[in-house]
Amino acid sequence: MIVILEPDVSTDSSAGVAIIQFLTAKPGVTPRIHQVTGSQQILNEIYLVGDTSTLDRQEIEGLPGVERVVKVSRTYAVLGRHFEDSRSYGFDYNGVRFDQDSLHVFAGLCAVDTLEHVDEMMRAVSERGLECTRMGAYKPRSNPYSFQGLGASCLPWVFETAGKYGIKVIAMEVTHDSHVDEILESLHTAGNPTGVMLQIGTRNTQNFELLKAVGRQRELPVLIKRGFGITLEESLNATEYLASEGNRNIVFCLRGMKTNMGDPHRNFVDFSHVPVVKRLTLMPVCIDPSHSVGTRAACPDGVLDIFHATAQGVIAGANMVLVDFHPNPNTALVDGPQALLMSEMDHFLEDIEISRQACLRRRELVKKHASSD
Ligand code: PEP
Ligand code: MN
Repeated sequence: MIVILEPDVSTDSSAGVAIIQFLTAKPGVTPRIHQVTGSQQILNEIYLVGDTSTLDRQEIEGLPGVERVVKVSRTYAVLGRHFEDSRSYGFDYNGVRFDQDSLHVFAGLCAVDTLEHVDEMMRAVSERGLECTRMGAYKPRSNPYSFQGLGASCLPWVFETAGKYGIKVIAMEVTHDSHVDEILESLHTAGNPTGVMLQIGTRNTQNFELLKAVGRQRELPVLIKRGFGITLEESLNATEYLASEGNRNIVFCLRGMKTNMGDPHRNFVDFSHVPVVKRLTLMPVCIDPSHSVGTRAACPDGVLDIFHATAQGVIAGANMVLVDFHPNPNTALVDGPQALLMSEMDHFLEDIEISRQACLRRRELVKKHASSD
């Protein structure tokens, strides 16, 4: 059960304190406070964990300062979209809004290699009006002898360059909780020239201790990839670990499933699940066409498979696109074969715009037919 307070009622106001006292007195129920920072206001929500079956919803709704009470299903208690739950959800981070309506393209390097490439990438995205990019510093590799990423040593110049080009958010994978500390320290030392969205990779989707550590910090939002060999339900439950620790600024990313049924693509593209995740949860949904498709193969129509997969996800309502580009894919230290060329960036963005317009027009069509029913 979620008790949503009126917008101007904080949990330390007299009404807020009285509500919490009332709920704490109920046997077997523990209240947990969550703050939701919206674009207009801060909303306080109290999650009731434990046996809520004996609670009287109407009695709680009658308390001064309570706006309404939402009954939650057991699964995805914090992130789930519950029965009669029309809450709009999203978050602002470093001036960028993430929700189920927005769309942001995070074009960038799968792995940071040289300052020249970071500079070229950030200049290219900022010249095109983008505020976000991706930069891998810690790379989880299948082979221990493969390049593991430059790690903490590259953070100062990556963040400084981002500041130079006005980049607001960098998606950056972490594979250990010490990486979170390194990123925070480096950001703070540099005076926060940019922001970071911590990425949990598909291999770590069920690394529960990492999820708990990342969920405990609330400064940086999180992008969590769907686990490539587990069910959607298991991945969403894993995501709930982040939220249950307190961090609710989460984007869920589809990146294809590992099975040879998807051959010749690297993974079986699963972007038909964009609307499913939006229906089951309140999270914005990201698609990663690079790791899904994994090759630069093109259809006889001249359109790359990566473009086609992106179009499928964006038409279906994706809110974020995480995509690999590289100034010279032949020399890329990680995932060169799937990197798009810098010369393809304009084409890629114009192609996305077509799909985005189609997505918005399809929503209008729903309204038109609903009103003519
Ligand atoms: C990545 O985005 O660089 C990455 C390693 O992705 P995934 O975890 O989806 O394989
Ligand atoms: Mn990669």
